[in-house]
Amino acid sequence: MAVESAQAQRRQRSRVAELERLLAELAREGGPFSSGYNARLDRQEAYPAEAFRILDEFGMASNYVPTRLGGRLDSVPELIQLFRVVSRHDLSVIVAYGKTILGAAPTWVAGRPDQARWLAGEVLSSTMVTWALTERHHGADLLSGELTATRSADGWRLDGTKWLINNGTRAPLVCLLARTSAEGGSRGFSLFLVDKRELPPSAYSHLPKERTHGVRGVDISGMTFHGAHIPPGALIGDVGAGIEIVLKTMQLTRIVAVSLSLGAADHALRLAGSFLRRRRLYGRGLAELPAVRTTLGEVAASALLSEVVAMVAARGVHTISTEMSVITSITKALVPTLGDELLRQVGELLGARGVLLDVFADGAFEKLSRDHRIVAIFDGSTVVNRNALINQFPLLARAYHSGRWDSAGVAGAASLTGPLPDLDLSALTLLSRTGCSMVQSVPDAVAQIGRQTARGKLPAYVARQAADFARTVDAVLAEVTSYVPSSREVPDSAFTLAARYELCFAGAACMRVWLHSEQAAVAGGTAGALWRDGTWLSACLARVLTLLGAAPEGAGDHAYDRLADVVLAVPEDHVLSLVPDDFCLGSRA
Ligand SMILES: Cc1cc2nc3c(=O)[nH]c(=O)nc-3n(C[C@H](O)[C@H](O)[C@H](O)COP(=O)(O)OP(=O)(O)OC[C@H]3O[C@@H](n4cnc5c(N)ncnc54)[C@H](O)[C@@H]3O)c2cc1C
Repeated sequence: MAVESAQAQRRQRSRVAELERLLAELAREGGPFSSGYNARLDRQEAYPAEAFRILDEFGMASNYVPTRLGGRLDSVPELIQLFRVVSRHDLSVIVAYGKTILGAAPTWVAGRPDQARWLAGEVLSSTMVTWALTERHHGADLLSGELTATRSADGWRLDGTKWLINNGTRAPLVCLLARTSAEGGSRGFSLFLVDKRELPPSAYSHLPKERTHGVRGVDISGMTFHGAHIPPGALIGDVGAGIEIVLKTMQLTRIVAVSLSLGAADHALRLAGSFLRRRRLYGRGLAELPAVRTTLGEVAASALLSEVVAMVAARGVHTISTEMSVITSITKALVPTLGDELLRQVGELLGARGVLLDVFADGAFEKLSRDHRIVAIFDGSTVVNRNALINQFPLLARAYHSGRWDSAGVAGAASLTGPLPDLDLSALTLLSRTGCSMVQSVPDAVAQIGRQTARGKLPAYVARQAADFARTVDAVLAEVTSYVPSSREVPDSAFTLAARYELCFAGAACMRVWLHSEQAAVAGGTAGALWRDGTWLSACLARVLTLLGAAPEGAGDHAYDRLADVVLAVPEDHVLSLVPDDFCLGSRA
């Protein structure tokens, strides 16, 4: 197993920092990434064409193509950090620009070598690719899709419509899910890479752009195929393997999708910090009010929890790939949900400035909140991901009680600055036979945290939080164990239980990141302040315990208060992050 070198890590850090420097420069007043410019595009419902040009020039699309095919995609954490950088400036831009990785990824997962090489060339030349799965009458229910691909003498004939497709009109290339067997079912669909440029104009038509509340400038449209003939080589993978390829590919793309929530949290915290540092009420700073500090601390804890879960998942694709069917569902359900709640709380802090268009940051917060709503919906909504997790409850229960877990995979995923094994998308599996090692490792993690507090490395209250958490995990797993699966009639209580399991994963991931990220712990700057005395760990565990209903009201206030101090001290051009500043942002020139 090849391991990413220190040199490769330095290169990735500098690329993320380079993008942030570029966009920060362009975010100055009047620039094409400034809040005023973005607000204007939003009002005009205009496509972010200039941002596209800038990202193309930066070579962002090369990060969508695996290195074996001539691109730069060899690290999922790097990819999500790049997405996060763009997202923290403008979500609409990344929703539009990021679609190509979703459209291309199925070919990286299951395409023929010649097909993948051809597509790599197209993506590297900035050709847009979209992914068309859903239809007007079938959103989450992909198995009811009606668009058909029928074998013809010289390939396949396409008939039907895909709707609500991002870049549906603009993208020349479409990765299309089509019914290839009248009976349907899990082996009744196939994926095709369709090149619209090769079709006669009569073979397809585009649907009008749908107007949306968020991501207003983005091309959300669709397409109808009218007996379009495509060559046999357009098929991706085997006939009937479409759903399987989609599910495996989403184990990558859903993690990429949650980087939008990380960027949204960065942006929201920056706005909140900027407002709270200046606002004075009742003769003192607003940030001095205890209730405000608690809310700010909770928001920051949610942002850090999201970062931990997303980074562990991104690293997990490399280190623990056979468990990604579980980890991805957890991540895509939890992180956007935390993001929506975090934005609600920041809205509360900003008060009127959260809704006024011309008084504070060009109304950026209101646009951000609208734009973010889509993250929990696309690429598998929250309920779809919870459903996928529920389907694996029996495996998760058995694995938890076995007491076994993949210690190397967990350590690799949780070591935020550690080396990564090669990216091997062919290792992804539909089910996790070994359950979820992160959750299964909780008893061991709690014991280690206990030893650290005994040695004075962590305050004693963190050990108490960890012990409370371990008891709650046991209780959640007892419920998971007694769940009786039913593929059709999944009760509401199972969705609630899935949400609780997600929080068990989040708490476990926090403890593991604490235990395995020594390097980050010695960093200076914001990251250093977060790591001192377990400030972030304590606040994140408090947040998890509260969300699990396992902590009394006010139990986390002390931890949130300390975290609020860190947030208020973050320089305006930096972000709150557990990863050392140079990885996340880069020092300013
Ligand atoms: C801005 C935007 C961009 C998009 N881009 C793309 C794209 O590029 N490509 C593409 O293929 N699609 C795209 N979509 C479509 C998107 O993936 C679908 O909207 C999504 O899958 C949900 O489908 P739906 O909204 O039709 O909801 P439905 O499937 O009708 O579901 C409605 C609601 O029912 C509930 N529900 C659904 N299933 C379950 C279940 N199993 N158990 C319990 N409750 C359930 C949920 O509350 C859900 O929200 C996009 C959508 C939007 C809004």
